[in-house]
Amino acid sequence: MRAAPAEDHPALFMIVRRGEILVSARPEGFAIPEAVDVPHSSRHILGSLADGTWVYGIDVEPHTDEPDDHLWVPLRQLYGKIDEALWTVAGRAEQIVSWDRTHRFCGRCGEATVPQTQERARKCPSCGLLAYPRLSPATITLVTRGEGPDEEALLAWGRQFPGRFYSTLAGFVEPGENLEQCVAREIMEEVGVEITDIRYFGSQPWPFPNSLMLGFTARYAGGELVLQEEEIVEAGWFRADDLPPCPRGGMSIAGALIESWLRRVGV
Ligand SMILES: [Zn+2]
Repeated sequence: MRAAPAEDHPALFMIVRRGEILVSARPEGFAIPEAVDVPHSSRHILGSLADGTWVYGIDVEPHTDEPDDHLWVPLRQLYGKIDEALWTVAGRAEQIVSWDRTHRFCGRCGEATVPQTQERARKCPSCGLLAYPRLSPATITLVTRGEGPDEEALLAWGRQFPGRFYSTLAGFVEPGENLEQCVAREIMEEVGVEITDIRYFGSQPWPFPNSLMLGFTARYAGGELVLQEEEIVEAGWFRADDLPPCPRGGMSIAGALIESWLRRVGV
């Protein structure tokens, strides 16, 4: 965490109400407030933007009403309606505020915890247990097979999508597992195929609720598709010119993986 800002610095306030962010509705679009006009229970320094504006995360009670000309917008629905860098900070705000609110008592002995001033942590004064904001890393992988115009990508329709919508395969990293092992295990568990040549693609904070998505590409090595029915409705191999409904670009790393593959195969 960076040092505290000077007194008269420009500031923005990410005011969080249970996963919703307060925005002012102006004719030109949504804006993040430059002042706090609602009663709040905690304030967290989130960092400064490229232009020197400091951003704070503000926690409010669940039934807090919005001031005039403002509205509460769920974080996911806010994507595309404010600057993308600011949206990422809104995700950071939501996670910090939520962590602070859910770690008020020690998980080991039940005593009320105390926020620390030197680092972002809450400490139990009785047993000394420290609680830091926690992330759940998850891998997400685009598997391909074949060469040239016959190259195909493995996409699956997961049960979390109510309509027919395919994406890359993803899953949480388990304790004791490295990222490559997680990628190989998730693909084997969900669709039953072996993979090789696992390569890092990029990462993305995913604040729904507190993941870090780690993107990979991999090549098919063997096996027939056998679906894990509790999680997967359908899965298949798709050519770039014959894709099912799936993300391309946009807010998710799945969209970036598919878009990158389409560029590589020239579609
Ligand atoms: Zn304790």
